[in-house]
Amino acid sequence: MDYESLRKEMVLTQLIPRGIRDPRVLEVMSRVPRHLFVGERAMSRAYDDAALPTSDGQTISQPYMVAVMTELLTLRGNEKVLEIGTGSGYQAAVLSELSKEVFTIERIAALAAKAVEKFDAMKYTNIHVMTGDGTLGWPGEAPFDRIIITAGAPEIPKPLIDQLAPEGIIVVPVGDPYSQRLIRATKSAGGLKKEFHTPCVFVPLVGKFGWGEDK
Ligand code: SAM
Repeated sequence: MDYESLRKEMVLTQLIPRGIRDPRVLEVMSRVPRHLFVGERAMSRAYDDAALPTSDGQTISQPYMVAVMTELLTLRGNEKVLEIGTGSGYQAAVLSELSKEVFTIERIAALAAKAVEKFDAMKYTNIHVMTGDGTLGWPGEAPFDRIIITAGAPEIPKPLIDQLAPEGIIVVPVGDPYSQRLIRATKSAGGLKKEFHTPCVFVPLVGKFGWGEDK
């Protein structure tokens, strides 16, 4: 299968027509091998305009959603980024190409372990993975210039606001467990300045400052 052509087509037909403009985001997404982050059975669908299932009942987000969230982070290359919800590792790989260092937390140990294997095999040396409840953040590495939550939250977890650097940006889907709205919030002296973006549907953020285990 010609994955390179499928990737270029994904950018041309799914990202550019829907308004993704940041040339660095478009360039990186036309290069990162998304098919290596989905399971073997889903490889042929890796560049489809859809989220796909990973093992453990979780998902790898739709390419467009990865692009929107990444663009909203406005990465210039020197940022320290925290991602909550490693999942397949694809979003972290995209972030790692656009920033200095990525710290990513996944609550399901098996998914975190698989992601580490992939990052090692693909030589992504600036990604650090931890298993645990990401709603608590990664205090030992704070502050972060950017934070991205790739699971649906009831509200922005307080520890993550605390761990965001001054003028830092957090991008997070907020809403109920079945539908959310993407929020970009910038930390300033006066508090968080919020912008509301596209409606979206993510699996729930489960943790102390997220939803309960039953979601
Ligand atoms: N970013 C991922 C990718 O590129 O494949 C997609 C993430 S998937 C939509 C959401 C992930 O968030 C799931 O793997 C889920 O286990 C994880 N998750 C949910 N609550 C979490 C929490 N409190 N801490 C860390 N990970 C969490």
